[in-house]
Amino acid sequence: MDTNSYIAKIRSNFPALNTKVNNHPLIYLDNAATSQKPQQVIDAISKYYATINSNIHRGVHFLSETATEIYEQTRQKIQNTINAKFSQECIFVRGTTEAINLVASSFGQKFVQQRDEILISVMEHHSNIVPWKLLCERTGAKLTIIPITETGELDLTGLDALLKPNTKIVAISHVSNSLGTINPIKQIIQQAHAKNIPVLIDGAQALPHLKVDVQDLDCDFYVGSAHKCYAPMGAGLLYGKRAWLEKMPPYQGGGNMILQVTFDKITYNELPYKFEAGTPSVADVIGWGAAIDYLQQLDYAIIAQHEHDLYAYAMQKLSAIDGIKFYGKAKNKIGIISFTLENIHPHDIGTIANEYGVAIRTGHHCNMPLMDFFGIPGTARASLAMYNVNSDIDQLCWVLNKTQQIFHRHQK
Ligand code: PMP
Repeated sequence: MDTNSYIAKIRSNFPALNTKVNNHPLIYLDNAATSQKPQQVIDAISKYYATINSNIHRGVHFLSETATEIYEQTRQKIQNTINAKFSQECIFVRGTTEAINLVASSFGQKFVQQRDEILISVMEHHSNIVPWKLLCERTGAKLTIIPITETGELDLTGLDALLKPNTKIVAISHVSNSLGTINPIKQIIQQAHAKNIPVLIDGAQALPHLKVDVQDLDCDFYVGSAHKCYAPMGAGLLYGKRAWLEKMPPYQGGGNMILQVTFDKITYNELPYKFEAGTPSVADVIGWGAAIDYLQQLDYAIIAQHEHDLYAYAMQKLSAIDGIKFYGKAKNKIGIISFTLENIHPHDIGTIANEYGVAIRTGHHCNMPLMDFFGIPGTARASLAMYNVNSDIDQLCWVLNKTQQIFHRHQK
């Protein structure tokens, strides 16, 4: 089967791609915000609710035991996907945001004090800034920032000086959600580890596109969201090395995270449950398992090549548009394309695109410090997924030209 037919087959698994928007076929280019879900995932969720809906871990009855088993199978699938050493190192959370808040709160409580430093970068998502800033406000610690270059790459020339004796953790994105830059995280981890500083990797934009091996990376924490990986909203991953997770206090208290409770003393449950208080999003985790199964039967080599070619096609076509300016020109990138059109506000681009069925994102993309660096309020962003095709790009280009016609008419 040639690549076009292969991708057409994949597209047919995603019912939302058949939606009509303003009487136009949907062109979905907002995959960095969330991906669409294949029918297999939608079916797994409805099958769960239709047949085995129950609370997990606590019941001895059939429904609870079956749901627990399938829920726990997802943990193993995730363990295999990211090559974690132990399944207990994979904690289910609501998403990347919750995972980072968990580490900032729990690791922070144990290891961060006044005058300590936490090292992040200019290109971090607010989810990888605000939890650390809150920790700094609580403890009197300080945020330090890795700068970036005009091409949207980390400027690591001063990294060694930024890794100080009082730096308690480095928190850095694997892939930038605005720029698409793939950061050299292995090098950063090695440099930080040479000074015994642990590293958290925000993998929200990497997990959907790159093969991630946490043992090879040797990261201390790796976090991500299911919903960007063709899986449901409401589930996410905190991977943490067992040695760290064992030392860290629980994040939230409640059911499931305890072994014994008296009014005098609480004994915490073992990993991973120590960090999974209360009823989790069972259906979403089960749906995530179905997404992993779905992705596993696809040919990764074909998809990686397709995403690469599609990005090259997009850049070639978009570059021909008058007055377009790109943000994020790293050599090592995924298909996230941020741009502005001269004299047109990004929100206007997004609004006109939507008139013609094209879904792109506009604004600061939860990267306000990054936008400040470039001196702009925001960009328009097209983000690609495996099911996008060249004609999606053609339609985007058509709509951008149309936007310019409309605006230039008004400006005359
Ligand atoms: N980090 C990055 C790099 C992201 O792209 C996102 C989502 N846009 C997040 C964190 C937050 O993810 P979530 O909203 O799923 O928690």
